Amino acid sequence: MAKCKICNNKIKELFLGKLKGTIVKKEGSSKLYNVCFACQKKFSTKEDMLKQI
Ligand SMILES: [Zn+2]
Repeated sequence: MAKCKICNNKIKELFLGKLKGTIVKKEGSSKLYNVCFACQKKFSTKEDMLKQI
């Protein structure tokens, strides 16, 4: 099960393996980070989310 990279909570899966949340990518890296819906709301921009990772 996917975990949020910021708060470490498990991310709920919607249908077809789609996660309730978002995926962010660090610039200059191919690594993807899962971010849950709550953190997505807390940090409104991708830049803010990446700062927490
Ligand atoms: Zn989270």
